[in-house]
Amino acid sequence: MGLSKTIWSNPVELIRAKRPEHPVLVCAPTVLQASARRFLKGFPGLVTYAVKSNPEEMVIQNLVAAGIRGFDVASSAEIELVSRLAPGAALHYHNPVRSRAEIAFAVSKGVKTWSVDSISELEKLIELVPAEGREISVRFKLPVAGAAYNFGAKFGATAELAAVLLSRAAAAGFIPSLTFHPGTQCVDPSAWETYIRSAAEICRNAGVRAARLNVGGGFPNHRTVGPAPALEEIFALIDRVATEAFGADRPALVCEPGRGLVGDSCSLVTRVKALRDGQHVFLNDGVYGALAELPLIGNIDRIEVYSPEGARRIGEVLPRIVFGPTCDSVDRLPGELPLPEDLREDDFIVFRAMGAYSTATNTRFNGFGQLEIATALSLGA
Ligand SMILES: *Cc1c(COP(=O)(O)O)cnc(C)c1O
Repeated sequence: MGLSKTIWSNPVELIRAKRPEHPVLVCAPTVLQASARRFLKGFPGLVTYAVKSNPEEMVIQNLVAAGIRGFDVASSAEIELVSRLAPGAALHYHNPVRSRAEIAFAVSKGVKTWSVDSISELEKLIELVPAEGREISVRFKLPVAGAAYNFGAKFGATAELAAVLLSRAAAAGFIPSLTFHPGTQCVDPSAWETYIRSAAEICRNAGVRAARLNVGGGFPNHRTVGPAPALEEIFALIDRVATEAFGADRPALVCEPGRGLVGDSCSLVTRVKALRDGQHVFLNDGVYGALAELPLIGNIDRIEVYSPEGARRIGEVLPRIVFGPTCDSVDRLPGELPLPEDLREDDFIVFRAMGAYSTATNTRFNGFGQLEIATALSLGA
């Protein structure tokens, strides 16, 4: 593929120089580190990174360089990855269901913080994890809206059960804490308010003072045209409500963003394979590839189209149906995508805000999905 250059000025330079045949996720460490500093400066507590949203080594390394010292991990592989790249960092094992072998591995790796949402899994932890200096964080859920999809469908105890689990964990000698996840791409900050007030009530009902309250991920990133999400307003709301709800018993706060931290630090460069009969756009990437998430949480309309020479297409925008490369008929982006009418075969469509849930869920279905990762100084104008 020609040039051996490894750091591009921006995605357009890469398009011009390489005209990549396969999808390329172009990530900007400067953007990623600025995002990490924004969380570290603005969030009123400990910032941990939800590794599943983008487990690329380059991502973890840049977050560590920016000062992130805690990680939300969900599997033995994630624990191993973080132990290797960020030795000494805090590991929060926040997958509330684990096999006995997984628990033993995490104990051997020094995991101190564990989430739980059921009696059976709490009993396993009490049996297998030495309580001394270990924290059990009870995950609870509420029937609240506000997010792009519901995270309470799989994990989370009811408020009643959470109070039982909290007092049981405390009685077994663990440091008792609470955690929740308001749902990903949570653009309505009132979800945090409802959850935090409910957390205080759970503590009162259990008669337990929580050491920490983890307010989850769910922080939105900038997926659609219009102003970027106002993270600082969410941080301020969390800070204010935590004091109001808990008063003198306010726990230390923790957050575990994935999308909100890394989402805006990468753009996806895709190529138009065909413009079938001048209508349907066929891309070299789709819902089995890096765009897997779009049918679940909606299209990204922060897109730019470039000719193979790197000239921006600025024609009038037309809504078009966009298909991915596989032979499966569900391989289609939701609705229609606003694309310039001068779009041509072999052009490149660049999707912004693709840093989270893109590399991690990419598959090789039908032989596609040969996703490459590139580094750039900036993501362009
Ligand atoms: C996925 C996940 C996160 C990150 O969610 P985002 O919406 O990407 O911020 C945080 N905590 C837990 C427990 C998760 O499962």
